[in-house]
Amino acid sequence: MPKHLSSTEFNDATIAKQRAELLSWYEQNKRTLPWRDIHDPWATWVSEIMLQQTRVASVLEYFDRFMTRFPTPSALADAEWDEVASLWAGLGYYSRAKNLWKGAKQVVNEHNGEVPSDPKAVLALSGVGPYTAGAILSIAFAQEAPIVDGNVIRVFTRLYTIGDNIQDSQTQKQLWGLAETWVKGEKPGDLNQAIMELGATVCTPKVPMCLLCPLQKSCLAYQQADPLHYPYKLKKTKKRPIEVYLGLILKKCSSDTDENERYAIYQRKATGLLGGLWALPMLLRSSNSKPVKASEYAVFFPDKSDVSEFLSPKISPKAQPMVKHAFTHKEWQVWPVLIDVSQQSERFINELEAQLALSFSQLQWYSIHELDALALGGPSLKALIQAGAPLKARRGSGR
Ligand code: SF4
Repeated sequence: MPKHLSSTEFNDATIAKQRAELLSWYEQNKRTLPWRDIHDPWATWVSEIMLQQTRVASVLEYFDRFMTRFPTPSALADAEWDEVASLWAGLGYYSRAKNLWKGAKQVVNEHNGEVPSDPKAVLALSGVGPYTAGAILSIAFAQEAPIVDGNVIRVFTRLYTIGDNIQDSQTQKQLWGLAETWVKGEKPGDLNQAIMELGATVCTPKVPMCLLCPLQKSCLAYQQADPLHYPYKLKKTKKRPIEVYLGLILKKCSSDTDENERYAIYQRKATGLLGGLWALPMLLRSSNSKPVKASEYAVFFPDKSDVSEFLSPKISPKAQPMVKHAFTHKEWQVWPVLIDVSQQSERFINELEAQLALSFSQLQWYSIHELDALALGGPSLKALIQAGAPLKARRGSGR
């Protein structure tokens, strides 16, 4: 538990000094990144959306490719969703891409294709919350607009030993208030980026490098030798686990090379959980979770200790086949189940269809290579990767 200190150090003179020290450090130490120092609100917008929950290193290759294809909001607004999703494939959290695409259409329809500089108009763009709005306004338009993200929270709570739960609305208000005070003055865009840069490279979550920090002299957590107590967050209650069986339903074509294997997937409805994304079909559970007519049909709800014997030799079995996927309030424990339907009878297909939550006619068949280019939902992507499918897709978190 951190000590719950309330700081008396938030005065303008202290902040002005800290601000100057940080700006000078940033000038000398900032990383060179393709979205920096270009003053293009569209590039700032795209980069900030990509950077949400994703590492800088992962964003780098996607950003250049995306901006080359969609250099303006109009270019993105004109594109089909499938193309947008394929350029986003592997970055994850597709709702971000969808909102960006919708936001680009808003910019075309309501602002003649130019990203607006009015704070209210920016906040009204699809997928743009206070953080992204602050980034666009300060970085691209040099407005004194505050931003608060995980890095800013870490730096501020340590600097001023703010020990209250950072999820409380009062603490959030206090942090936004601090950010507002900090951003006032010269170079507001650089200042916001400097705080985030410090949090990402020096004031890091587990091993803060206080000896290299430009704010060390005035940092209260450093003086008390306990930076790791900040920020303080109340532990979340455990998410409800739900077991889900996803079918890797395989059909082999003329020869049995990898590229002639096709997997069944379908596109989920546009709204709701994993809306609009491609997914492996879900197998409905039998009442007792035992294999269903295993000897006759080879369709299994596998015994967890024993799943590897049902996996295709082309998909290497793993020691632990189950993979978890967390949603806001629940967690799926996903079991990939390989079912080869190439040589199976009509009776088998009917039996299998009865165990799927949808009909066979709704399925589409793709090779692993083709799947890699589609906007797959997280659980299906993880199930494929867990089963050893050679997908390029990656995940990351944090700047
Ligand atoms: S002195 Fe250490 S804890 Fe304080 S802001 Fe710098 S890196 Fe973070």
